[in-house]
Amino acid sequence: MKIALVGNPNCGKTTLFNELTGKNEHVGNWAGVTVGDKSAPIRSKYGYGDSIVDLPGTYSLSAYTADEAIAIDIIKAKEVDVIVNIVDVNSLDKGLFLTTQLLDFDLPVVVALNKKDLLEHQIIDIKKLSRNLGCEVVLISAEKVQGIEDILNVVKTAQTKNVFKDILDLNSSDSRRYEEIGKVLDGVVLGAKPSAYVETKSDKADKFLTNPLIGIPAFILVMTAIFHLSINTVGAFIADTLVGGIEVFQEYVVGVLENAGANEFLTALLTDGIIGGVGAVVGFIPLVMVLMFLLSLVEQSGFMARIAFIFDPVFRKIGLSGKSIIPMIVGYGCAIPGVMASRTIKDDSQRNLTAMLTPFVPCGAKIPIIALFATVFFADQPYMFPIVYLVSFMVILTIGLVIKKVTGAQNVQNYFIIELPTYNMPSMKRAFLRMMDTGWEFVKRAATIIIICNTLIFMLASFDFGLNMVEDIDASMLAAIATPIAFIFLPLGIATWQLAAAAITGFIAKEEVVGTLAVVYAMEAAINEDFEVINAVGLGEAMGITGIVALSFMFFNLFTPPCFAALGAMKAEMDSPKHFRMAVLTQFYVGYIVSMLIYQVGSIAIYGTVGEGFVAAVIILVASIAVFAKKVRTAKQVHNVKPHVVMN
Ligand code: GDP
Repeated sequence: MKIALVGNPNCGKTTLFNELTGKNEHVGNWAGVTVGDKSAPIRSKYGYGDSIVDLPGTYSLSAYTADEAIAIDIIKAKEVDVIVNIVDVNSLDKGLFLTTQLLDFDLPVVVALNKKDLLEHQIIDIKKLSRNLGCEVVLISAEKVQGIEDILNVVKTAQTKNVFKDILDLNSSDSRRYEEIGKVLDGVVLGAKPSAYVETKSDKADKFLTNPLIGIPAFILVMTAIFHLSINTVGAFIADTLVGGIEVFQEYVVGVLENAGANEFLTALLTDGIIGGVGAVVGFIPLVMVLMFLLSLVEQSGFMARIAFIFDPVFRKIGLSGKSIIPMIVGYGCAIPGVMASRTIKDDSQRNLTAMLTPFVPCGAKIPIIALFATVFFADQPYMFPIVYLVSFMVILTIGLVIKKVTGAQNVQNYFIIELPTYNMPSMKRAFLRMMDTGWEFVKRAATIIIICNTLIFMLASFDFGLNMVEDIDASMLAAIATPIAFIFLPLGIATWQLAAAAITGFIAKEEVVGTLAVVYAMEAAINEDFEVINAVGLGEAMGITGIVALSFMFFNLFTPPCFAALGAMKAEMDSPKHFRMAVLTQFYVGYIVSMLIYQVGSIAIYGTVGEGFVAAVIILVASIAVFAKKVRTAKQVHNVKPHVVMN
């Protein structure tokens, strides 16, 4: 039997889905986190044979936004047998709005009234509600795992009579529908009067936190504290211990293999390429895990919904809305679900822009890159991480603004509706599961993609095109392939083939930027006979670059297009291949320009000399400004002419 879970955003659908299936999908206390459908079999604890389809949260089925349309399509296409409609007891009328529409599907509907643990002084007359709706109703708490089996019991035999058949249809007005819901709820909720407005603690907190002057500094403070804990203290401590362990293991393997008289090439492949290269990436996993743990706590608290609300006016100025912030906040974990979350934006150009901008938020895989350069080059600068995220935010706003000027788009007029959920005590268990999930994903990638890439890099760096083993790594295939690319990076100051090679492998997986650097420099160190196990600091020294070049390289990797998988997600969410191509080109351009500016301006400001490729940089900059100025002029003209055309 196929059971569809349908309900308003934030009603607890994902919590129920996870409980029923034993999965660990992302639960956030805010709307828009679940998009697209997810299916999984029910876990054995609850019996065999049934499967669950989790749909994006929706308030109605009138296909007003893209996710609502998705919900309708899935219910139809997936041949669902029964609908379990989750309704939050705190917003019965809003939940039942959807219920009355679901009854139109001619499928059995079971209403699961969720969050019963939050009912304080109220009693809900379930029998009466069930009679009034013409379908089964059960009271549950997904979070506290209460009443779950009741749902499964009634689902088997559920029968539904559409009592609204002759009264309502999908075209009925909202007020007409609410009128019927009022009748359904009449005498159902006993106890405290639901109509009387009582200011809750959440409402009181929101008076402060939704005020930008308090909310924005609070957000910056919270994020800085999170980064500090994960990068500089707790995470760093675990990471250092882990890196120490990896180094000991690496030395041990070298010892064993040397004693056994193993082939020198294979020894180097195993120790430098595989253990060293993978270890360099794995060493950063604790940072990412602690970060995800803390962010999950904040997300569950309901704070992020306020952030989307506060930034709505800012994003409106660049032709987007608060809706675009949700994909970006999801994107800090991984750009792929982030980009997918842009699906809820109906307007094509806003969705395209959001899908393109989301990867500019540094995802989990980019954290090793930031951490490497931050620890090596800016060790006494504890705010490197918050600065990087702040720069990302500024870059996102700047691109949005430039694109708006170039295309002549107007400020967004539509409404951004986000429910501010009640503040919740975050669940440690859920945050822990999310942390373990992130860690496991990283380990899986390290054991597959990263090992393969490192082996390949090692091979390419060991041989020349004649397949002779090289004495000097500069004569290798890798150097030959990467050198012409390094030439293009000259105005960015990152003109060594090693850095170019690392940047290229970053498109396969961003962690591999660190992996490639670790392999290449370990090999160089080995060839130069000063074999030393390379840790982050050793690696930084081996690179022999200045702080400005390090910054330029770091931002290049953060701002150029994301990995191929994320590009795939972008392509899927954008409306045309042409816009997708333009988006990727824009990302390349932005990464290039930002790095170039950092390097060139930094060289003059800090070292008092012009950087390499200065003339080329000036030409690129002047040409860019000229092109933009021309486009802005054209956009203005087109815009001014428009009313005329309409009048004709
Ligand atoms: P979805 O958007 O419908 O998928 O909802 P989620 O599963 O992400 O849950 C939204 C919020 O409601 C989260 O903060 C959950 O912790 C919380 N929640 C879910 N079920 C319950 C419940 O039974 N009781 C309480 N108090 N909170 C719940």
